[in-house]
Amino acid sequence: MVDVVLRLKQEGRRGRITAVSRHGLLPRTRGDTSPSAPAIGVGDTLKGSLHLFSALRAAIARQDGDWRSVIDGLRPATNSLWQALTLDEKRRFLRHVRPWWEVHRHRMPEESAETISALIAEDRLSVRAARIDNIEVQGVCAVVSLRPRATQRQETQAFARVINCTPGQSDIAQTSNPLLADMRRKGFLRSDPLGLGVDCNEKGALRNSRGEALEGLFAIGPLLQGNLFEATAVPDIRLQADALAQSMGSFLRNASASRTRNGERRSLEVSL
Ligand SMILES: Cc1cc2nc3c(=O)[nH]c(=O)nc-3n(C[C@H](O)[C@H](O)[C@H](O)COP(=O)(O)OP(=O)(O)OC[C@H]3O[C@@H](n4cnc5c(N)ncnc54)[C@H](O)[C@@H]3O)c2cc1C
Repeated sequence: MVDVVLRLKQEGRRGRITAVSRHGLLPRTRGDTSPSAPAIGVGDTLKGSLHLFSALRAAIARQDGDWRSVIDGLRPATNSLWQALTLDEKRRFLRHVRPWWEVHRHRMPEESAETISALIAEDRLSVRAARIDNIEVQGVCAVVSLRPRATQRQETQAFARVINCTPGQSDIAQTSNPLLADMRRKGFLRSDPLGLGVDCNEKGALRNSRGEALEGLFAIGPLLQGNLFEATAVPDIRLQADALAQSMGSFLRNASASRTRNGERRSLEVSL
């Protein structure tokens, strides 16, 4: 949403913008940090995702309220903390904590925050906590039915444009990506239990529809979010790419060594 609003401003558009999301939260400002790992460890203070939240708050209090350094310091441990949660705890985290986590973890640069604040102050941008129930095109307008958060009241408002800023469909069972949809239909992959991406083993090897890890079919990046919670930012994807290159390298070396040992099979392959 922030990127879209900045782009509209850059293009010189003057219309009033209403940004709608269920919680109406804005990303916090990036700020200077000196990441310091909070004293939270798997199997230590962590008994569930909501306990993690309380532990984080305590760590922030110990850092004199410097929440940015605590959140950033947690980054190297986030995936192991995530993997230690039970499925039910992960669901609870996604339902109750995730919106708050996202706006503190994925922050916007100061420059963007200043522009967004100025647009709000000039009443050219409003940020609303509401659910969109329906959109109907009437003439040149889109009439949007909104239900403000924590109410059963419905409002309708006409807009000249509606821009979808949601991140797209992460649930593989619903994906419109033709490649992933085809692979799912053919049984080469399946959704992870939380519907955040694909199901895979700890090395990122895809699990087929029967749950078996496939040798030679791997995923990296946001598709792995069910298994690795820190899977979207480029520095984390770079680490995944490095780990995958290492494990594929050793897989290929072992395969080649076993072919060399097995002369019969090798000559068969050569003749084929
Ligand atoms: C608005 C926004 C802001 C972000 N800001 C940041 C940021 O500031 N810092 C940061 O680290 N991360 C940021 N991210 C996250 C980061 O950009 C993504 O997680 C990252 O780009 C994912 O990389 P990827 O290579 O896995 O996937 P993608 O970048 O999505 O690349 C996948 C590519 O595959 C192509 N493709 C798909 N299907 C097929 C097919 N069948 N055949 C051929 N090609 C295909 C697509 O066209 C696409 O080019 C941001 C993401 C968004 C949406």
